[in-house]
Amino acid sequence: MTDNESARIKAICEIANIDDIEDLSDGYHTYKELYHQRAILFATIVNQNKGKSWKSWKHSDGKYCFDSNGEWFIVGIDTPEGSYTYHYSKEYWDYFHCKELEYGKEWDGHTEKDVVRLLSLEQKTKGYTKFVPCRFCGSNRRTKWYSKNEITLECKGCGKKISGRTGSEAKINWNRLMGDF
Ligand SMILES: [Zn+2]
Repeated sequence: MTDNESARIKAICEIANIDDIEDLSDGYHTYKELYHQRAILFATIVNQNKGKSWKSWKHSDGKYCFDSNGEWFIVGIDTPEGSYTYHYSKEYWDYFHCKELEYGKEWDGHTEKDVVRLLSLEQKTKGYTKFVPCRFCGSNRRTKWYSKNEITLECKGCGKKISGRTGSEAKINWNRLMGDF
């Protein structure tokens, strides 16, 4: 933080009559509350994607996060669109049930705007994926046709047909062709 920013935050605290900027509220939530919400929500995502997630006290350059000597850690998740990471203070360490790395993975250049990468986790999850609606007519209803060599899904709205050799392959094909990924 620059001297300018420190002075600005000090001025805000004086006006808002608070000791710590974390206690600044928009009338509904303080920064502190929102950071806590963010930590718990991200822990939930990580814990549902354990195989893609990791945490470390150190960055890939071998240094402690923010030179904090273990006050902060980094936790990351590798989504189909690239990785995304957050830093949290040590009291959140045990909320994240993923593998611990000695050093964090190398930063791939992601910034705050790349948070939308997290949305790609849902679409690539196999097995329990929901059908996406038909991209041609928006209908979420289908008929299933069985023939000797394939299974066909037919949109009840517009009649668009998508097939696969098995039911799950037909479903994957449906989501791949009907979704925008
Ligand atoms: Zn349709």
